[in-house]
Amino acid sequence: MRKQSEAALADRHLLGSRLRSAGLAGAVIVEVHENASVMVSRTRTGSLRVHRGYAYASDHVLEAIVRYITPGAGRVGVKEAENILLSFRVHDYVPPKKIHMRKSRLKTGDRTYIRKLRKLHQALNELHFKTKLSHVPISVSHRMRIRLGEITIADCEPKVVQISLSRAHLERDPWKEVECTLLHEMVHQWQVETGLEADHGREFREMALRVGIQPAATRDVAAVVSHNRLKVNS
Ligand SMILES: [Zn+2]
Repeated sequence: MRKQSEAALADRHLLGSRLRSAGLAGAVIVEVHENASVMVSRTRTGSLRVHRGYAYASDHVLEAIVRYITPGAGRVGVKEAENILLSFRVHDYVPPKKIHMRKSRLKTGDRTYIRKLRKLHQALNELHFKTKLSHVPISVSHRMRIRLGEITIADCEPKVVQISLSRAHLERDPWKEVECTLLHEMVHQWQVETGLEADHGREFREMALRVGIQPAATRDVAAVVSHNRLKVNS
C-alpha cells in the first residue's frame, strides 16, 4: 500500500469505525483511495476499498455501502445500494487528484523551429550533398548559450545521432546565420557518413569552402566524449 497522508489516515480510521457501526463485519479491512472512478470495491484478499470522501457521508449512505458488499443482498438490493452510494458526491469532500501529464520537454515555438530546420536540412542536403546525407533528428537546445550548434555521434558506429541548434541562436540571429550553423554541422555529418573523422581538419575546411561557409570553427570547443557519445561542438 502506498504511503498515505495524515489526513487520509484519519479519514480511513473514521470511515472504518463508521462502517462498522453501519454493520460491516469486524474482520473486514477497510482501505481508502482517491481514484476518480470505482467508488467501492473488494480487493482479492477481501479488504474493502472505499473512496476517502465517504468518511463524510451520512449513515444512510454508509449502510448502503455495507449492503452493497455483503453477500445476500440480491440483485435488486445491490442495485439500490449502488444508487445510494453513487448519489453521494465524494469529490465535494475529497477532490480527485489531478492526472499528471508527462510534461513535454519542448517549449513553445520549438516545434516550429524544428520543422523549419528539418526543411532546411533537406534543402541544403539537395543543394550541397546530392541528397546523400541521411535524415537525422534535429533538436533545439535551451542549454546551449555560447555554442551555436552541436552534432552527436554514436561511439559504437559512424552514425549521427542528432544535430542540435541553440534556441538562443535561433531567436537572436538572422536566419542566414542559422543556415551557416546547420551547414557546419552537416559538414560534420558528411564526414561521419563518408567514414572520416568528425573534426575541423583539412577535409572539413575544404568541404566548408565548397558549400560556402567559413571553414573557421568559431566558438568551437574540443570534441568531448560524454554519455558514451562523441559530441563535436561548434
Ligand atoms: Zn564544428
